[in-house]
Amino acid sequence: MASGASLAADAADAAVTAVTRGAGGAAGADGGPVPAVGRVWPVGARPPVLRGWEPPATVYGPGHRGVDLGAAPGTPVRAVAAGRVSFAGRVAGRGVVSVELTGTGDPPLRTTYEPVQASVTDGQEVAAGEVIGTLEATGSHCGSACLHWGLLRAETYLNPLLLLPPWLLNPGPPRLLPVLGVPLPP
Ligand SMILES: [Zn+2]
Repeated sequence: MASGASLAADAADAAVTAVTRGAGGAAGADGGPVPAVGRVWPVGARPPVLRGWEPPATVYGPGHRGVDLGAAPGTPVRAVAAGRVSFAGRVAGRGVVSVELTGTGDPPLRTTYEPVQASVTDGQEVAAGEVIGTLEATGSHCGSACLHWGLLRAETYLNPLLLLPPWLLNPGPPRLLPVLGVPLPP
């Protein structure tokens, strides 16, 4: 019975994986590789991640299609990499800015920032680290103020933290990590 239950669990995992891959569409399970082209965090120097990336099991399933970064209202919001503003305006009362990232393929990667009072306009070229607006006090889905930062390729949502190179994710002097013999999370 125990092995039967185990097989059933494996089958369930496989089904979830298959559905997730299906949601990836033509670009594949993960929307293709994400180059670490980010040069700054969108807010602050190393903001707290209030809620991480929780990819939904299905296209319309529950999940968190981005990461929430804690920051005070009015904080400058920066383009993490060079690109072109593909949208700057309001969606359902929230300020939203989207930037297509230069040199990230066709269709390009696209980052979204909200709720943001935009200081850029559609079609504008932005440099890495350029201020694109300020964090709005309302319209976030955090208990406190936060920036919801998203990443897409076409309609496939990806983890925006993949854009940040290790020196941004883990600042500080190099240090040796203990080998624990456990696989790293994907
Ligand atoms: Zn969020």
